[in-house]
Amino acid sequence: MEDKITFLGTGGGRVVVSNQIRSTGGFMINLAGHQIHVDPGPGALVKAREFNIDTSRTGIFFVSHAHLDHVNDINAVIDALTLGGVHKKGILISVPSVIEGTDADIPWLRKFHRSVLDECFSIRVGDSVKIGELSFTATPTKHDEPMNVGFKLESSKLSIGYTSDTTYSGELWRTFKGVKILIINTLRPGKDRWKTHMCTEDVIRLIDKVHPELAIIHHFGAKMVRANPLYEARKIQTRTGIRTIAAADGLVVSLKGL
Ligand SMILES: [Zn+2]
Ligand SMILES: [Zn+2]
Repeated sequence: MEDKITFLGTGGGRVVVSNQIRSTGGFMINLAGHQIHVDPGPGALVKAREFNIDTSRTGIFFVSHAHLDHVNDINAVIDALTLGGVHKKGILISVPSVIEGTDADIPWLRKFHRSVLDECFSIRVGDSVKIGELSFTATPTKHDEPMNVGFKLESSKLSIGYTSDTTYSGELWRTFKGVKILIINTLRPGKDRWKTHMCTEDVIRLIDKVHPELAIIHHFGAKMVRANPLYEARKIQTRTGIRTIAAADGLVVSLKGL
């Protein structure tokens, strides 16, 4: 399998979930022989089919938090991988609110689908999980889901950071400093700040400090889609000097040469 990232969906937030002007199926990382499905929100299986991704090759699911646009299709993708539980396999890395539930709500992961996985890791900020030559470390966020985490994924060749949903903070750039590729959830354009997410201006500050080789903006709300993420990515690239891509549904980013 070629090392690459494929975006099944690039939408986020309540409005885009409801109108699906961008899909919300998450993204797939192929790295060092592993296929990793990150944040399988609504549309994950439909878009995998549309973009010719073989979901039976997924070995690892990473679900950052218990918001519907990130977790809704987790049982469906486990079902697809295991053929309805016939073949026990797959690894889930996620947070307690998804796996065990909270005082206020039941877990997103059904007991049956948990039982057909090979392994299930419940993580909090700072925890690391090693799978073969891959290492996932849960990174901090500031969001309206207290258990939410991003990740730093490291292989012998590459490091990929994923912010998940968060506002900007000093802790954020210190955590990701030195990663080669940074995937940044950018809900809103320009200086349009929101209390739980980053806008383009926050992303410029973040990239300036982290200095990745490649930045990918992702998880666009309705205002961002209207503003056109391509223009926002261009703005970020001009201001920071860092190569910046606006993710699009179906976009494949090759990791060769990085
Ligand atoms: Zn979200
Ligand atoms: Zn969220």
